[in-house]
Amino acid sequence: MSTMNTVGRPTTPNAVDHDYKHPTLTGGRGLLQDEHLIFESDGWGKTGVDLPEPKGDASDLGDLVRRDPIGLPGLSEPEAMRHYVRLSQKNHAIDLAIYPLGSCTMKHNPRLNEKMARLPGFSDIHPLQPQSTVQGALELMDQLAHWLKTLTGMPAVALSPKAGAHGELCGLMAIRAAHRAAGHGLRSDKPRNKVLVPTSAHGTNPATAAFVGYQVVEIAQTDDGRVDIADLEAKLGDDVAAIMVTNPNTCGLFERDILEISRLTHEAGAYFYCDGANFNAIVGRVRPGDLGVDAMHINLHKTFSTPHGGGGPGAGPVVLSEALAPFAPAPWVVSGEDGFRLEEFAGGEAEQAFGRLCAFHGQMGMYVRALSYMMSHGSDGLRQVAEDAVLNANYIKARLQDLMSPAFPEGPCMHEALFDDEWLKGTDVTTLDFAKAMIDEGFHPMTMYFPLVVHGAMLIEPTETESKQELDRFIEAMRALAQAAKAGDVERFKGAPFHAPLRRLDETRAARQPVLRWTAPEGSNIAAE
Ligand SMILES: *Cc1c(COP(=O)(O)O)cnc(C)c1O
Repeated sequence: MSTMNTVGRPTTPNAVDHDYKHPTLTGGRGLLQDEHLIFESDGWGKTGVDLPEPKGDASDLGDLVRRDPIGLPGLSEPEAMRHYVRLSQKNHAIDLAIYPLGSCTMKHNPRLNEKMARLPGFSDIHPLQPQSTVQGALELMDQLAHWLKTLTGMPAVALSPKAGAHGELCGLMAIRAAHRAAGHGLRSDKPRNKVLVPTSAHGTNPATAAFVGYQVVEIAQTDDGRVDIADLEAKLGDDVAAIMVTNPNTCGLFERDILEISRLTHEAGAYFYCDGANFNAIVGRVRPGDLGVDAMHINLHKTFSTPHGGGGPGAGPVVLSEALAPFAPAPWVVSGEDGFRLEEFAGGEAEQAFGRLCAFHGQMGMYVRALSYMMSHGSDGLRQVAEDAVLNANYIKARLQDLMSPAFPEGPCMHEALFDDEWLKGTDVTTLDFAKAMIDEGFHPMTMYFPLVVHGAMLIEPTETESKQELDRFIEAMRALAQAAKAGDVERFKGAPFHAPLRRLDETRAARQPVLRWTAPEGSNIAAE
């Protein structure tokens, strides 16, 4: 049921509310106002700044000059400010509470990082500035590269990829270039045209492989959630370009046979791409280079803090083995007697580079934050990051496993605890319902229905930055909800969320009939300059 509030907008239906019996008259709730689209504000004649009328400047645009208003909403400065602050209040943030999204590594972003990133020498520079004027920024990139190579035990790193998925693209393009150089390109007589990907892989892995032109072949998983070595052996051959394996994998488990996996892969003449999104679990403890990895992206925005998930851009530097280093994309930082410079063009040292992945040099602000995070932790601190992340996940697993069913009960997990929906059988509550009820209790849901190999998956990653008190609050809420589900309080789940700014959405309709463009309502007077 939908009602109209006094300002004529539909409010969210409240008919089946649990505790919230009286819909408000305005759509606002407890000091939080209902928020319109910015285009629905009614102040079209207003402007936040007062500029003098231009005097007699003829436009250079000739016939192309704009004739009609372009329909920008007119807002005063406080109105514009309030609009965006109100919208931000409708979102969850890592600065508000635990953000237990598995695979995403949503950790606290120390304010020190932000302070460093705002230093004018890093934030106010331009990528086309003469290199002699940005020596400090180049040195920072060089330092970051040094520590990424040191932590991973790899000889080279491409800094420019702008996310994990972009890093995968970088790694697979380097692999493709290396096979091409060896006479096994995709259009050669003896093409290596397959990439092997385990069934539990993140969706970006097969998507990247397909995008680069490879055929994706799935590798089966064992009952205890690891790569099935026999299946891997059966599928490896002289037509395989690479395997893509996440370690720890997306079930939150360390691939016990990782050395065997890399040995078999190399024996078959293929490269080992490691999805490094879960590096948080092993940073300072395990060097991927020692495991035989040829290329691995590092999500700076996961392992090394830096805001993400709607909070900011990402960065996905890729470390490369000796074999793949010559194919790294430009640019990279070189240091010499007269300071630092960027190797930017194919030719000379960069002769085999496959080109550039993006304009300019990557996400400078993320580089600063990541290096600030590394240096403030030190080597002992980074090792403790991994240890505490794993400890926290195991604490959650241990305290929930009597009520909820762990997907892989045997042994400890790494940095994330994975449950399936076996424990919800017979309750008429689904993983989705449970997640929505968590929102009512003030908690952002965990990752749901991923990895795909686990039925009704609930993947919880607390990260090292949650204290025992915070974990206990989360665990108590989860336990109370689990008990409510088992006690048959189905309505609490089916209608949830009851207390959020928006109620349960029709996700199928949203996917099938997305409304991607706002159109002005008939007869509205939208004419602001
Ligand atoms: C996050 C993630 C990715 C993709 O990284 P983005 O930075 O989001 O592009 C790939 N694989 C796994 C396992 C991930 O968790």
